[in-house]
Amino acid sequence: MKHRSPSVGARTVLTTGIMLVPMLLMAVVGTAYFKEVADAVSEAEEEVRYELMPVIELQTLLLKAVMPPNDYLIHGNTDERRIFTLLKEQIDKKFNAIEEQKFGEENEREALRLARTQWVMARVVGQEIVDEVYPPKEPRVAAEKMERFDRMIDDANIHLEMLYKHIVDELGEHVEDVEASKAKARMSTLIAFVAAIVVAVIGGLVLARTILNPIRALDEGVSRLREGQLSHRFSLPSDDELGHLGETLNEMATKIERLATRDDLTGLYVKREFNRFLNEEISRSARSGRPFALLLIDADRFKDINDRHGHPVGDRVLSTLALVLTHDMRAIDRVARIGGEEFAVIMPDTREGPATDTAERIRRMAESKKVRTSDGENVSITISVGIAIYPDDGRTSEALVDAADHALYAAKAGGRNCVRKAQNSQATLEKPVKNTA
Ligand code: GH3
Ligand code: MG
Ligand code: MG
Repeated sequence: MKHRSPSVGARTVLTTGIMLVPMLLMAVVGTAYFKEVADAVSEAEEEVRYELMPVIELQTLLLKAVMPPNDYLIHGNTDERRIFTLLKEQIDKKFNAIEEQKFGEENEREALRLARTQWVMARVVGQEIVDEVYPPKEPRVAAEKMERFDRMIDDANIHLEMLYKHIVDELGEHVEDVEASKAKARMSTLIAFVAAIVVAVIGGLVLARTILNPIRALDEGVSRLREGQLSHRFSLPSDDELGHLGETLNEMATKIERLATRDDLTGLYVKREFNRFLNEEISRSARSGRPFALLLIDADRFKDINDRHGHPVGDRVLSTLALVLTHDMRAIDRVARIGGEEFAVIMPDTREGPATDTAERIRRMAESKKVRTSDGENVSITISVGIAIYPDDGRTSEALVDAADHALYAAKAGGRNCVRKAQNSQATLEKPVKNTA
């Protein structure tokens, strides 16, 4: 019973498709992790650009803002007022810009708030310093104000330094994220790679099993047929292309076997097959100890039929004889055409009595048959039969055939259209070179 299976083509496409799955997985996983790494890197970059740089710039501006009030107190240059006002505006703008970043961390927001508080107080004091008349009426008070201003700017800077550190810490976390993503990407790519190899190996083995094995069976079977083992048949389990090929080869083998073992005209076994069967039967009979019978049959005065009615009629008579010989025979009996108008029957497990009965039956049946010619004439035929029994009449194939042949000659000599059994006395009879009427 053949099992239904997809065609070899479909299986190849399917297996290749399955092998591609881990590759696709690798591509998808790789892309996903690459995106994660890229996102983490760009987040880190944004943090530097939008959070860290403004803080550094603000710190620089605050350090610059210390100068105008100090210089004014020393030199009394009124230009310092304008410079201070300008710096104030720039610093306020910078604070606003940084605040707009909306820091996620509470400690970042707190540091920024404290820095700004210090700056708001410092700018009031700074303004007071540059707004005062020069030289100051009370230098001690002015100096003390200056000290307070410097301290507040310092404090603002300290808080900004804290903010800077928080941002740098956060950046460190992002770098860790990047490293983790990279490690994950490497790991999952490795897993997908291993999976791809495993699937490829399994797919390859499955393909090999379902395609190469049948091809090997076909190859071996064809070799056997070539060596002459014509009875060999292919039994491929699947109904795919290879299964169909096996069936076609089986049909071919059946035809070749028939051509090689059967006679064209009668469909009976040829002489070579007869010899093979005879040797097989002798071996089997020798093992089992059960006798078997050999019948040699020759058409009587067949030459006359050819001469009188022509070769084609002779052929039809031979075909009719073949039908007579196979009619009512057991499946184990082997009927062969071993010469022009000579036939043989091997009857396994058969003694003299039943063998003679069968020979008589076919002799009578042949006698009763008529072959009608195109001229409307009825041609009849008779046969002579010689019987030999293994092992009594011969223990080798040559001896047995010889014994049956002598019995056949005795039948011819006895007037034809009769059956003779091989006998010791007949074994000594000389066989004539040519029968005469
Ligand atoms: P006997 O009774 O002594 O056997 O006489 P016979 O004429 O049958 O024997 P003989 O051997 O003289 O002739 C056999 C003839 O069978 C000769 C041959 O032309 C003919 N023959 C052999 N093979 C075929 C064949 O395939 N077809 C036909 N039509 N004739 C064949
Ligand atoms: Mg003959
Ligand atoms: Mg003859």
